[in-house]
Amino acid sequence: MSKEIIIIGGGISGLSALHFLKKKYPAYNIALYEAGPRLGGVIGSDMINGYLCEWGPSGLRDRDCIASKLCEELGIENDIQPAGSDADKRYILRRGKLRRVAMSPLGLLAPGVVSLPGKLRGLLEPFAASSGKDDESVYDFARRRFGAEIADYLVQPLVTGIFAGDARDLSVRSAFPALYEMERNSGSIFRGALAKLKAKRRQSKTTASRPAKKNKPGITSLNGGIYAIIKALQAKHQTHVHTNARAARITKTAGKYLISFSDNSTAETEQVIVATPAYHAATILRKLSNDLADTLSRIQYAPIAVACLGFAKDAIKADIRGFGYLVPLNEKAKHLGAIWASSVFPDQAPGDKALFRVLLGGAGNEDVLDCSDDDLLKLAETELGAVLKIKGGPELARLYRWNRAVPQYRLGHYRLLQEIDAELARFPGLHLAGNAYTGVGVVDCIKRASAIVSNI
Ligand SMILES: Cc1cc2nc3c(=O)[nH]c(=O)nc-3n(C[C@H](O)[C@H](O)[C@H](O)COP(=O)(O)OP(=O)(O)OC[C@H]3O[C@@H](n4cnc5c(N)ncnc54)[C@H](O)[C@@H]3O)c2cc1C
Repeated sequence: MSKEIIIIGGGISGLSALHFLKKKYPAYNIALYEAGPRLGGVIGSDMINGYLCEWGPSGLRDRDCIASKLCEELGIENDIQPAGSDADKRYILRRGKLRRVAMSPLGLLAPGVVSLPGKLRGLLEPFAASSGKDDESVYDFARRRFGAEIADYLVQPLVTGIFAGDARDLSVRSAFPALYEMERNSGSIFRGALAKLKAKRRQSKTTASRPAKKNKPGITSLNGGIYAIIKALQAKHQTHVHTNARAARITKTAGKYLISFSDNSTAETEQVIVATPAYHAATILRKLSNDLADTLSRIQYAPIAVACLGFAKDAIKADIRGFGYLVPLNEKAKHLGAIWASSVFPDQAPGDKALFRVLLGGAGNEDVLDCSDDDLLKLAETELGAVLKIKGGPELARLYRWNRAVPQYRLGHYRLLQEIDAELARFPGLHLAGNAYTGVGVVDCIKRASAIVSNI
């Protein structure tokens, strides 16, 4: 069977690539092959007794309105749910107590997580010297610029929250490119942030006469959960999607890519987008290029289990108006933090109930996932219960586990990407989408898919 373009993998990366391709080339013969019986990859949303349990992502940070534009094109823009007004109240657990995190550089001065000497050290950031290195761990970068306390109690938990990773292993250049660029361009994060703010103000003055954007950037979800985007993509492009179709390998014959599936069927094409996790891409591409497969295999993943726990509100003593909290490594807790899901999106639980997503595992805590589902749910319940002073057990408990959840952009990740690009240059028409390369969020995946399609 010959296709003009083939996509392998039916997560948000593959599906959004399919959508952008159909928009660009409506008449083309395009097919997406997904190994499993369902689409969405790590995205899934279950409604159970009025609680909305997300399997994976629960909120989109849609800074450039990329996800909202996709939703508009899918006709589901009215389903977008912005986070409630308390979502910018975020907490860190320190010495067993929740402490509010300042959301701006100047907010550092407010009472909260960091001690007075820690704050004063943080305020010296504009005077910190550059490392002169082409890459540095997120932790070393933060300690050099803001001091050890901010690195330990603000930056490390932030890294846990986004990557389920250890700031000492991850690359600032790849994991937080905006911070890396600010240091390079402005010599300081404070100065860089200020310059960005000024530029934004100038821009909003020059565009003052234009109507305001409909969807403000911020954390968003959708009615029915994040899976609503997958459902809409599936409904729009159903005829191009094949499930239960696992690509086993790609080879090249007579200038075309030949995709062989595990049921021994084949398909050929001149353009193929591999939108699977890097370790699957490595297996699929091994026959085509051993070097590319070896490089892809070096991208490690951290495991996560998400425990969704629902309680009656009157069983909870703590004030849960906010986004949730993260746990610094020094706290020696087993869970990584908790999102107060129904405080962020009130429709995600019945009015008199509260829903929490407790995160367990992460890089360096891989053995936590060796526990049974019951033990993990109990662990989540015990640790969350102690922090929020909850009386009694949950009335809803659901566990979602991901043994290889989030790719880790480790020190030198940018060199690994250069190696991948050099190898891809030998194979025109072969593209790699997914979260393993230039951003782990859902919006990053959509953005990468869109960039790949612009280049096809
Ligand atoms: C627990 C968790 C919480 C998260 N929270 C957030 C959040 O709040 N906000 C956010 O923005 N992001 C979040 N993320 C990250 C985000 O969800 C992912 O980065 C994104 O959904 C990845 O999409 P993808 O399509 O690249 O990969 P995947 O979702 O992994 O999809 C890849 C697909 O490829 C298929 N596949 C694999 N091998 C083959 C093969 N050989 N042939 C055919 N198909 C194959 C798989 O079956 C799968 O369906 C979270 C992730 C996890 C795990």
